[in-house]
Amino acid sequence: MSAYIVYQDQLPGLFRLWAKIYKVHVPVQTAPGFYDFAPWEPGGEVAWDYDLTVNPLKRFLLPPREDLVVFDARDYTAKGVFEAPQQLLFGVHPYDLRAVAQLDQLMEHGSPDKNYRRRRDNTVIFAMEPLRIAPDAFWSTMGAGRADIGFDLYWTKIGPATFFVEVGTARGEELLLAGGEVERASAAHHEAARRTREATRRHADAHGLKFPWQELARVMAKAWDDSIWREKSSMCLACGSCNLVCPTCYCFDIREEMDETMTRGRRWRQWDACMLPSFALVAGGHNFRAKHLERYRHRYFRKGKYIFDMIGEPGCVGCGRCIKACTARIANPLTVFNRLWEEYA
Ligand code: SF4
Ligand code: SF4
Repeated sequence: MSAYIVYQDQLPGLFRLWAKIYKVHVPVQTAPGFYDFAPWEPGGEVAWDYDLTVNPLKRFLLPPREDLVVFDARDYTAKGVFEAPQQLLFGVHPYDLRAVAQLDQLMEHGSPDKNYRRRRDNTVIFAMEPLRIAPDAFWSTMGAGRADIGFDLYWTKIGPATFFVEVGTARGEELLLAGGEVERASAAHHEAARRTREATRRHADAHGLKFPWQELARVMAKAWDDSIWREKSSMCLACGSCNLVCPTCYCFDIREEMDETMTRGRRWRQWDACMLPSFALVAGGHNFRAKHLERYRHRYFRKGKYIFDMIGEPGCVGCGRCIKACTARIANPLTVFNRLWEEYA
């Protein structure tokens, strides 16, 4: 693995270079205690020490709403729509990287999603070791504290103005060296990065699952009839917020509409949410998950078992976004998983 050292005062120049090719997005503070990715602006503040962004990264790869096909009813022709901007996401934390790695696998599953693929291919990801950990986060105990793939560069702050930058891809290295020579990391720098990451992990491990995440699917398999589903779901407002903020939820709905002339139209998709009452409603009016309990339980089985069975890891990376977003305070996967472990270990 090659690695370099970048000093804070080199960054404005690098950002300017990258912004000539890519739409660059960086973490920024949007309100006290709230962060999100936003377009980089010269002289703008980067929130180096953000703990969690309100929105997950999936919106850059699977937008909340996008056209898939445009068609003309007069001559029965149709054309696929593929919008894939060149974009660079700077400062992505490892749990979000892990979520993207899951999406990469899941969107290839069955019929590969070409719209997702094109966006992903055009997206450069510069990951960053977290400097702060969100109070609700439990990613370290979900195995999402470190990602070995899925990034072009991985930045670790090892001094007040010094970054250790690990190369993930040739594309990343090329972008790093685009502005001229960059100092190679020494053995001491490698050691400093290792110590920094170890300290982050130790801190992150203090809050989380009380059991190895590898046991989750086995525990879930025994929990179908548990009382927790009724108890918690009785307070659910069916708002879908827990789905929308989740970096690994990727369900969408597809619709078609004609324009006002009724000659041309388009097929588009938009995010859907399995916690919404209409999610499993089908033609004829039958709803496969009409009850709160059924939808609430489904979300946990999706996270803890179904995705696990497909890709060998939980469909929850422990970011804690759903915990923060749920006004009823019942969407916390950690509380549910830990309780089920106590009952079924
Ligand atoms: S279920 Fe909640 S904690 Fe887990 S990845 Fe989704 S938003 Fe994050
Ligand atoms: S955010 Fe909370 S209230 Fe809303 S659907 Fe999810 S669990 Fe229910």
